[in-house]
Amino acid sequence: MKRPQLSVVVPCYNEEACLDMLHARVSAAARAAVGESYEIVFVNDGSRDRSWDVMQRLSAADPHLVAINLSRNHGHQLALTAGLDLCAGEQILIIDADLQDPPELLTEMRATMAAQGADVVYAVRRKREGESLFKKATAAVFYRMLDRITDTPIPLDTGDFRLMSRRALDALLSLPEQARFIRGMVAWIGFRQVPFVYDRHERHAGETKYPLGKMIRFALDAITGFSTAPLRFASHVGLLLTAASVLLILYILIAWAMGHAIQGWTSTMLVVVVIGAVQMFVLGMIGEYLGRLYVESKRRPLYLIADVAGPVQGHASLGYRHQDSGAVSVSPQARHNDAAE
Ligand code: UDP
Ligand code: MG
Repeated sequence: MKRPQLSVVVPCYNEEACLDMLHARVSAAARAAVGESYEIVFVNDGSRDRSWDVMQRLSAADPHLVAINLSRNHGHQLALTAGLDLCAGEQILIIDADLQDPPELLTEMRATMAAQGADVVYAVRRKREGESLFKKATAAVFYRMLDRITDTPIPLDTGDFRLMSRRALDALLSLPEQARFIRGMVAWIGFRQVPFVYDRHERHAGETKYPLGKMIRFALDAITGFSTAPLRFASHVGLLLTAASVLLILYILIAWAMGHAIQGWTSTMLVVVVIGAVQMFVLGMIGEYLGRLYVESKRRPLYLIADVAGPVQGHASLGYRHQDSGAVSVSPQARHNDAAE
């Protein structure tokens, strides 16, 4: 199969008012960048408005447009995953349907990618127009907190608007987890990733499709997917409590020796303090195991190889290889299969 040079993937939920303009602007930007060798993938994420009708109408008139209709609303990140799974391009642009992110930046993003030899060019928001103070404030706090508690450095003020190479996308798609926080997962895969600063515009039409409930779920997916810090919380409290209880025990014993304690107080206090500390400590231990179990259960590839120089002996044991993209990833599943052969 000959891959188109570019795929533009757009998740859409109740975006009927944006689709015509979106299609026109994305098509023009794609044509300006790569000529005819592009495809546009619209994913209808169970919209309740006429988005799917509009998509069908547009795709009937434009052979570059592929429209996908999901069975129901699966959420932004899964709709995006569906589009990424199905797209075929050598380079992939991810963009929202509401035109907050100008598709015309494509040319510059491609230039940055080529100039820096990057696999991912992620767009960083310098300004956000037309968004509520609440949204901006919660986003600012959230991304800064996330940065503190995860081991994966996830770029600040960055959405899903980005340009990726085929091998970076294949690496991303080799992460099999269910709860998908895509901007974090892209950060996790590594390769060369460079920022691209831009101003975010107002929505072309309609309301945000991220009400508070969805925002909270999204934040929880991000935190639990990229950090086991909340699970380790108990062990930290346990340690603190153990340290504090040593002082308390000293105090209790001194009070007892000096005869300040009433009958039964000493033993009761000792039991409360010691049991409390031990309990927290054991909870923390369970948290540590649970955290590791959770990391294992995601079954992410153990590592990804970007390049190989020189002959590699016995590379068949490297697990599966993305033949046409050059990215090599080793998944626990692939190792398992090797062992079975
Ligand atoms: N979206 C989606 N499914 C959802 C919610 C949102 O596919 O359940 C899409 C939406 O159509 C848009 C993108 O995700 O293309 C980002 O949503 P939105 O612009 O409403 O988020 P905001 O910019 O307000 O954070
Ligand atoms: Mg938006």
